[in-house]
Amino acid sequence: MFESLKKKFNGTIGKISDKITEEEKLEASESESSELNEESKNLKEPINVESTDNAVGKVPESESESETKSGFMGFLRGKPKLSEENKDNSSLSAETESKLETSEDEVNVENAEASEDESENSGIFSFVRHKTISDKDIDDILFELEMALLEGDVAMEVAEQIITSVREDLVGCKIKRRNDVSEFTKEALKKAIEKILDIEGKDINVLLEEAKKTGEPLKIMFVGINGTGKTTTIAKISTYYIEKGYTPVIAASDTFRAGAIEQISHHADKLGVKIIKHKKGADPAAVAFDAVEHAKAKGKELVLVDTAGRMQTNVNLMDEMKKIKRVIKPDLIIYVGDALTGNDSVEQAQKFNDAVGIDGIILTKADADAKGGAALSIGYVIQKPILFLGTGQSYSDIMEFKPEWMVEQIIG
Ligand code: GDP
Ligand code: GDP
Repeated sequence: MFESLKKKFNGTIGKISDKITEEEKLEASESESSELNEESKNLKEPINVESTDNAVGKVPESESESETKSGFMGFLRGKPKLSEENKDNSSLSAETESKLETSEDEVNVENAEASEDESENSGIFSFVRHKTISDKDIDDILFELEMALLEGDVAMEVAEQIITSVREDLVGCKIKRRNDVSEFTKEALKKAIEKILDIEGKDINVLLEEAKKTGEPLKIMFVGINGTGKTTTIAKISTYYIEKGYTPVIAASDTFRAGAIEQISHHADKLGVKIIKHKKGADPAAVAFDAVEHAKAKGKELVLVDTAGRMQTNVNLMDEMKKIKRVIKPDLIIYVGDALTGNDSVEQAQKFNDAVGIDGIILTKADADAKGGAALSIGYVIQKPILFLGTGQSYSDIMEFKPEWMVEQIIG
């Protein structure tokens, strides 16, 4: 489940960690070379054109050489004072002077990033031990993550929110030990994802308890387009609450699609759940109304209403949903969506939410969903919680959705 999402987040943790560690190493090698540098300071006094020339001339070469060497040269270049004094030295030739100016520019560009941090610390040596993560360190990696998330069917606003949150958390973080980077990044990602998934909403279990006290049945209406697994999900929810000691009744309110009444009846019979049905083409609201009356008469605690699911853009369908809602006043309207359809599923949820107002979401086929884009995005986009995940084809393959569980799945 959600393997691809997991890969992307873990990849990001690795990349940020590598990047910062690499820079840290480079800076550490600069610090190691400090002793050498002490010696080199002696060169400063009787500035000898030849030796300066050598230093400047070696710069491009050293960059392609070993880290240590480039670190050392980088350090030399990192002392603009050296060239400042050189400039004042009248014995310098015009040629050397211009070379030194160039090298000074290089220094400024190359040290621009470090200078922010340096100003916070007393100097380059403490900076090595207190690397501060900058925007520049993580910008490219976060951009890459954002693109990967979008490719993985994560909604744009969700991808943006994650990147913003991670950036806010990481930039300015002081790194003291190498392990800190991956720890901080992991925590920043966890926090970002928790924020996305943590959505307030109605809780079926609480509502059921409350309904039980009043003696009224809890009425749940299931909406969503055909083929997403709506009827199977109603059968799963029946099973789930039968096991918890409740007695459900199902309303076959998809009176439109050929075979829909038979399909839901088949599940109900297998589970031994009472089903209220009319003829094909009957008023769906009337079927739902009868099911509520039945539950009241027989003291059943739960009414589960199946509904039709033509294209979500169908005006008749939305009118039909509104009518059922008007007639039975459901306590909960649950949108059932197929996790595998990614963005489509999110879009459909928005349409149903606009038309009738959704209270919660069940995503089916999560067991087959490697991408995880819909699972990560759908609740945030419509600001309604995911209540359950469908995790297979049998009646017991359903689990209550917990944000902490999802975070654990994808960040671990
Ligand atoms: P409906 O048209 O929306 O009522 O869809 P159905 O309930 O008939 O389900 C369509 C297909 O999806 C069936 O083959 C189901 O077994 C399958 N299905 C439903 N939920 C899940 C699930 O959580 N995981 C998997 N793997 N298959 C599911
Ligand atoms: P109302 O009862 O007067 O508000 O009208 P309905 O919304 O129930 O629709 C009237 C008729 O249109 C129904 O009897 C159906 O035969 C037909 N109809 C058209 N589209 C649909 C549909 O999506 N579902 C159902 N059940 N009937 C539909």
